[in-house]
Amino acid sequence: MLYIVDGRDRGKQLREELENAGVPAWYVELWGHHIVATPPGVKTEAKTPVRAVIELKTEYQLVSRQWKPNTTLVKIAESEVGRGLYIIAGPCAVETEEQIMAAAQAVKKAGGDALRGGAFKPRTSPYTFQGLGERGLQLLRKVGDAVGLPVTTELMDPEDLPTVVKYADAIQIGARNMQNFTLLKKVGRANKPVLLKRGFANTVEEWLLAAEYVALHGNGDIVLIERGIRTFDKTLRFTLDVGAIVYAKQHTHLPVLGDPSHPAGDRRYVVPLALAIVAAGADGLIVETHPNPDKAWSDAKQQLTFQQLEELISKARELAKLTAHQ
Ligand code: PEP
Ligand code: MN
Repeated sequence: MLYIVDGRDRGKQLREELENAGVPAWYVELWGHHIVATPPGVKTEAKTPVRAVIELKTEYQLVSRQWKPNTTLVKIAESEVGRGLYIIAGPCAVETEEQIMAAAQAVKKAGGDALRGGAFKPRTSPYTFQGLGERGLQLLRKVGDAVGLPVTTELMDPEDLPTVVKYADAIQIGARNMQNFTLLKKVGRANKPVLLKRGFANTVEEWLLAAEYVALHGNGDIVLIERGIRTFDKTLRFTLDVGAIVYAKQHTHLPVLGDPSHPAGDRRYVVPLALAIVAAGADGLIVETHPNPDKAWSDAKQQLTFQQLEELISKARELAKLTAHQ
């Protein structure tokens, strides 16, 4: 149940009243509303005056579009996700200053909105490149500032949150950590937007409940990202779930991006998958690109050349004019 109240004092008063009655209750200020949330289906009469009581039919509540019909706009530095097509591009990982600078300049030139680059990499094999850590974040920040692009990067270890917050404009939670609830609660208390990737073995509902964790802990600046799931078919690296984008757009008010790079696994398939994501009504893309893709230290096969990135962005922006983005 969600209770919308007038102001913080009322919110805290209601939370206390409900807790005294044995009902678990959270008070959050999100998207311009003062909200007290209780578990779904738990109806309690309260003496504290409330403006509205919202009963939802889903397990996720705060992120549901049922009570908030307009798409939430998420600010990443000075830019905004949820208005028009938002494109994040950059290498899988930050490797060297020259590499990330070249990528930043190419993303800027191609008309991208933000630069991505991993510094803490979730690699399947422990023998492969694990990311440059804080040095990578420093380089990412430096080149982002130099070319004028906000920067996004993945956080894996809750202990690294202060370091990531220091350098990045948005925190990516990777597919492998989508249900790391300690991490979700921690970024829920952080003052930075969260890019929440869908786990490759998770249902859409689990993904939306992961977003609910972040919101319930106080952070409403959440961007959902579909990045492909594991299915019986191994032709491409993962199966891009376009239906999940359509569903998430209709059932949550959070902006939804798609990642065509990781499901493709091969740069030949990235542009068409990106266009499918845009056609499905996504609010944007996150895509991998590298100055010398074949020599990349991670995900070499799927990273786009700069020329392919330009082609992708111009086609995607053309297509976005034809598709509804609400
Ligand atoms: C990435 O964006 O480089 C990445 C590791 O993505 P995912 O968590 O979706 O695998
Ligand atoms: Mn990658």
